[in-house]
Amino acid sequence: MRSTPKACHAAAGILNDRGIQRALRNDERRWALSPAGGATRARGADEMSDATKDGRPRIPAHIRRRVLVEAGHRCAIPSCRHIIAEVHHIGPWSTTRAHRYDNLIALCLNCHDRADRGEIDRKSLRLYKLNLRFAHDKYSQLEMDILFELYKNGQEVGMPWFAFHLILLKRICDSGFITFEETAIGLSMDNLKTNPDLIKITDKGRLFVEKLGLHEL
Ligand SMILES: [Zn+2]
Repeated sequence: MRSTPKACHAAAGILNDRGIQRALRNDERRWALSPAGGATRARGADEMSDATKDGRPRIPAHIRRRVLVEAGHRCAIPSCRHIIAEVHHIGPWSTTRAHRYDNLIALCLNCHDRADRGEIDRKSLRLYKLNLRFAHDKYSQLEMDILFELYKNGQEVGMPWFAFHLILLKRICDSGFITFEETAIGLSMDNLKTNPDLIKITDKGRLFVEKLGLHEL
């Protein structure tokens, strides 16, 4: 069933004339230009309120800003990148009842509607969000890949890893997402241990992956 734009829209960005005309053509979107809608040109007094017209609490400014900056104030879908960006709930507001950064993504009006219709599904949105995070977050793609692999393997299984390569995982180590367990020395060459040790995901690491929503993929 198609949800109404009110349920998950929080408009942002600069509306050009074409965007305004399009919004006005669609009654469902008129809220976006109303004092309670949240579109950039209509904000002002609206920002003084803590809730939208339908009574839902407004997305906190720092979270909204972070989501928009993450996508460069454009639609997060790489093949679109429209300049009118809104904040969309990946898991719908009706079920999450929360404005969590991990569950929010910047989308244009068109992609937002396509997401509401299910043409762009939730898993796809999470992948688009993930692409943005790889580009902007502090963890490398290698670190994220290893973290997901450890998550899938389970907490007790772990993965062989050489101590002298730990520098590649420094940031997920420092964040407490993985632990390093030394194994007994089996082989050594020039006093360098050549059999691998073990890395394992921690509870904190599992929580991080789950907050990204990637366990649903
Ligand atoms: Zn778009």
